[in-house]
Formats: sequence, C-alpha cells, structure tokens
Amino acid sequence: MATGDLDRVYGIVINSLDYKESSKILKIFTRSYGILSVVARGAKRPKSKMQNLTSVYCLGDFKLKRAGDMFYLQDGHIEDLNEGLRRDLKDIYFAQVITRYVQRGLFENQVNENIFDLYVKTLSFVVACDKKLRLLNMFLIKYIAFQGYLPRVNACLICGSKALEDKVFSIEDGGLVCKRHGHPGQGLDKDEVFYLNGIFD
Ligand SMILES: [Zn+2]
Repeated sequence: MATGDLDRVYGIVINSLDYKESSKILKIFTRSYGILSVVARGAKRPKSKMQNLTSVYCLGDFKLKRAGDMFYLQDGHIEDLNEGLRRDLKDIYFAQVITRYVQRGLFENQVNENIFDLYVKTLSFVVACDKKLRLLNMFLIKYIAFQGYLPRVNACLICGSKALEDKVFSIEDGGLVCKRHGHPGQGLDKDEVFYLNGIFD
C-alpha cells in the first residue's frame, strides 16, 4: 500500500476520464502498488505536456504526489504509448476486454506483479498477433492462474502419467487426468495438451 509520494512508479494508464474543466481522473495500474486513482490537473489543456502521459495504455514511470486519499500526477516518463492499440477496431476491442478483466479482478491497491507483467506483455503482442483468439485465451488462462486458481496440466493428477495422448481436462479434479480413469471432463487432443503445458511452464 502506497502511503506517501511516489517519485517514480512504473505503471500503465488503464482508464482516463475528463474531470472538471481541464483535468482528468486516471486509473493507473502500477506494478508495485496496484491500481491507483490519480488526478491529472490541467491535462486536458491543448498545450499540456500531460496529454500523452495521461492517455489510455500509456506505459511509463509516473511521479505522483499524495494528498489525503488521492494522488496527483506531477510528471512522468513515457516508455511506450502503445499507439498501435488505437488504430484497428479488433485491437481496440481486444485491449478493452483484457483491461476490463484487470479492472474487475483486482481491488484498488491490490498488488499483483504477475498480472501486471502479463497485462503489459499481452498488450505489446496485440497489434502484431494474427491469432488474437489464442492470445486472449492464453491471457485468460494465465490470468486465472495468477488469481490463485492454478490447474495442474503437466501430468495426470491420478497416476502421474505425462503422456500427451488420451487426456481429459477435469474441472472437478482441477487439471488433467487420463481418459482411462473414467473421470468426467473435456477431452483434449495431443496438441491441446502440449499447448496447455507450454502456457504453464
Ligand atoms: Zn492417469
């Protein structure tokens, strides 16, 4: 939990709303302090240096001053504006979907460096990725795991067999089991088992 001023906090803007005449209220997902609410005074003024810094998906170091329960943006250094995420509708939608998961799944100030890293990394892949559904699935499976629901997928939960063939994903058991044990679950082909193993290695 952040208690004082934060001189250099690494994070990414995940929401930016107009506030009063010339300011903005931001949600910045920070690596070390979780999601923080931040007021950016004057950020809407046409000549403000803060315009880029306060745009959604701007990744960088933020200098924040604390006053009561709020933080005020003082300055910052942009590492990546992620401008590409604003051009293509599919990319915009993708980024919005994973951002919603992050916003809904984490309490304000809840620190989760794994989810931060996963989120930033996934965003960096979106534009160039031509298998977006796969990227989204990968994000979701890892996201769920980082929330504390880690399925076991590298071997059968019952006999320990690491064979890729004849496996089912059993939600009740919390991972992979061999078909022959007769547990209910979703049957997976070899490639899917291989793919799951890759995700959680
Ligand atoms: Zn088995």
